[in-house]
Order: sequence, then C-alpha cells, then structure tokens
Amino acid sequence: MGALKHLTRNREVRVAVLGAGLGGIATAVNLKRSGSTSFTVFERSSGPGGVWWENTYPGCEVDVPSEIYSYSFMPHRWETSHATQAALQRYIELVIDHFGIRSHIRFDTTVESAIWDPAQNGWIVTTERGTAEYFDVVVTALGLLSEPNLPTWPGIEVFQPSMFHTARYEHSHDLRGKRVAVVGTGSTACQLVPALAPVVGQLIVYQREPGYVLPKRTHKITEPSSAWARSRLGRKLHRLQTFRETERLVDAFRVGSPAQLRTESYYKRYLERTVTDPALRSLLTPSYAFGCKRPVFSSDFYPALNSPHVKLVPHAVSHLTKRGIVDASGVETDVDVLIAATGFKATDFLSSVRIVGPGGVDLRDRWASGARAFLGVTVPGFPNSLCSMVRIPTAHSRLSLNWSGSPNWSHASLRAFAVATITRWTPDQSLRNITTPGSSGGFDVG
Ligand SMILES: Cc1cc2nc3c(=O)[nH]c(=O)nc-3n(C[C@H](O)[C@H](O)[C@H](O)COP(=O)(O)OP(=O)(O)OC[C@H]3O[C@@H](n4cnc5c(N)ncnc54)[C@H](O)[C@@H]3O)c2cc1C
Repeated sequence: MGALKHLTRNREVRVAVLGAGLGGIATAVNLKRSGSTSFTVFERSSGPGGVWWENTYPGCEVDVPSEIYSYSFMPHRWETSHATQAALQRYIELVIDHFGIRSHIRFDTTVESAIWDPAQNGWIVTTERGTAEYFDVVVTALGLLSEPNLPTWPGIEVFQPSMFHTARYEHSHDLRGKRVAVVGTGSTACQLVPALAPVVGQLIVYQREPGYVLPKRTHKITEPSSAWARSRLGRKLHRLQTFRETERLVDAFRVGSPAQLRTESYYKRYLERTVTDPALRSLLTPSYAFGCKRPVFSSDFYPALNSPHVKLVPHAVSHLTKRGIVDASGVETDVDVLIAATGFKATDFLSSVRIVGPGGVDLRDRWASGARAFLGVTVPGFPNSLCSMVRIPTAHSRLSLNWSGSPNWSHASLRAFAVATITRWTPDQSLRNITTPGSSGGFDVG
C-alpha cells in the first residue's frame, strides 16, 4: 500500500496520535504498515504502554489470556497464560521496535489542546511545552483508565501516614511488618492484596461493595508438540478459540439468562470452597446479579483473605484522622501506610485534552450529558478526528479486538480521506446507543 497522500496538497496526510498506550501504538503501527511516515504520537509519560507503563503495583497483570490481550499483527510466545505488567511492557517495546515507530513518538509531551483551524481544514495541536503544530487529522487514544481516581476524603490534609494510589505506586516504602490498608476491592486490589499479604505485618482491606470474583487459572504456557498447533494457521485458530471462550462470559451479563444463573451458582460454589469462615463469606457475597459490575478474575484474592493477619472491613472509608482511617460504621483504625486502589475516572472521556471543533464547540460541552461517538471512533461535528477508545467498558476480551479493529477502521477512514481528495471528513449525525445490560453505566457508541 502506498503512503497516505492528501492529493489536493500533494503531500502526505499529517496525523497526530494522542497517547502511546496500546490503542495509540496500534494506530501508529497501522499507519506505518500502510506506508505513512507523516505521523507523530504524543505521549505525556516517559515511556510507551499507557496503563502498563503507569501501573507497576505488586501483582499487576492482565486478567484475560495474554494470547488475546495482544495484537493480531504481532503474535507472541507468552510464558504464562496471563502476562505480568513487566512481560506486557517488554512486548510493547518489541512491537515499537519491530515496526520502527519509536522515532515517531514524542515522550514527556503532554498535549493541552487540539483546536480546529477552519482556514487550513485541520487541527492545531498545542502541547504543555508551548509548541503548536498543524495536523490534518487527530486520533485520540487517551484511554479510559489513564486518570487515577485520587481520593478526596475529609481529613486527608491532616493524615500523616504514607498514602499513594496504585497507579502511582511508591516502591520506596519498606512494607515488611507494617500495618497497611488497601482501600478498594476491584480488579487492582484483588491483585495487590495477595501480593502484599506475605510481606506486611497486618493488612486491612476496605470494601465498599462486594464484587464477583472468579478464579483465573493462571498457568505456564508450554510450546505445543504438534507441528499443526505450531503453524501460523494453527496459532490463529487457537487465538480465535481462546477469544470465543473468553467472550462466552458476556452471555452471563444478560439478566436472568441461563448463562447468568450458571455463573452465579458456579461463583457461590467457588466462594464456599475457598473462603472458610461463613461470616466472611457473607460479607463477600454480592447482592446484585452477575455482570452488573465488571467481574474480577483472581485465584489468590479469597485465599489471601483467609489469612489471620488480613482483615476485611465491609465499609467504605468515611474520613481520615491524623493517624487513622474512619470507616462508614464509625470505627477508626490506625495504619502505617494507606494504598488507594480506588480506580480511575473512567467516564471522564478525553478529559486531559481540550478539543475544540468547528464553530468553537468544546467536546467537553458536547459530551456534558454523556459521551457519544459514531461506531465508538468518531464524533459528529468534529471532522478529521478519530478516537481509539474501548467500546464496551464492562466487557473484557473485546478490548483486544478493539485495538486491532478500530485503528484499522480508522485507517480506512484516513485512506478515504486521502484518496477522495477531500479536505474535510465528518461522520453522519445519526447515532445508535448501546448500553451493557444490567450495568449502571452506558456508553453511546453509534
Ligand atoms: C491496571 C490495569 C489492568 C488492566 N487490565 C486489563 C485486562 O486485563 N484486560 C483488558 O481488556 N483491559 C485491561 N485494562 C484496561 C486497559 O485500560 C486497556 O486494556 C488498554 O490498555 C487501554 O489502552 P489505551 O491505549 O486505550 O489507553 P491507555 O493505556 O490509558 O493509554 C493512554 C495514553 O494516553 C496518554 N495521555 C493521556 N492524556 C494525555 C495527554 N494530554 N497528552 C499526551 N498523552 C496523554 C497516557 O499517558 C497514556 O499513555 C486494564 C487497565 C488497568 C489500569
């Protein structure tokens, strides 16, 4: 395929990709593979990988099989079924070097705004360093989980023990023998708690609401013995099969479906088998149907809670005092270190960058009552711009498809943009609305 050419200007289409997480890297690779050289990836961190660069807490690893949590265009021999953060980071570095996109990435460069320039029919991208550059097209790949949800509990200003968020993990603390609190019981906490339990003196886990925790079955991957399984086609088919098996869980998100009832009863049996204390079991049992919240996959979380030095507090944090944490039931507990596993601002879409389209319309205002994007990748009224964004946040393996799929879809749009010699491309205004059944949140994807 030839390079993208903007025929009216007889030069390549200039593309700015915002973010060098897995979405931004996939977009860059697809641009590079199609012969484009005129693209720049802006990344505020000092390295690539997005969430996998930022999140280095103990136990951090992927919770869907690594075989499908990886690019279709870059197969990899994973050592374990669920890659650790370090293994994913190595993979990401390999991808970047293999496709020669490192030189296109500007690290330590935070984008402040992308403002539509009607005179040039493109975007002026401004960075925190004060640079302003013109691009024909902007692709935002800023991620859903890139802005940590930092706690704002009353009393935080007087709290003296060390405190940090899992996405800003402070490895300098020696936690051996210490009294450590982990606030939260989502996916991150369920990875962190079993990793910390053998090290700390006491571990106190604050749970606002119990979630469904299913076993993960992590295992080492050995090279298949048959030549067929080692062949390219064999590997592809195996990946497809793994994807389909993982996706089957989505059936259980349908309220009242046989799959949901089966999963709930499987969960109950797993809980009974794993948690020895009936009182603790009851505190851990969710009061809502499976799928209303993203399920957690961990084979170590419940066993860790059985340990005598690990205590589950079935309440949210109410406020902090000079030395301790007061929970919603009014009990105060002194701690040495507080680790906030309080998640991310998952619904503040594209919040780190100001995007102003034609007519001075600010995307934040446009999305004030909810984010909407045609097919999840492009917003009506914001021409020559695409987003690489997850489509259904509560799903799991679909994310990997999204990277392989959306950037290709986006790329098709970029090619159309170039080949048709148009200078301004904008999607249709009609959007469809897709929400995840049973979930509290929805996401308009078109
Ligand atoms: C700890 C953790 C574990 C996860 N595990 C799984 C899993 O097992 N399975 C799964 O499917 N999903 C998982 N996810 C979800 C994960 O968000 C996606 O899988 C995927 O990595 C998102 O990629 P992305 O490129 O869209 O976003 P990100 O990885 O968030 O990348 C966005 C990038 O944009 C950059 N950026 C943001 N603002 C600016 C700016 N203003 N200027 C320049 N750069 C900017 C950020 O620094 C970041 O590098 C996990 C998320 C976390 C946090």
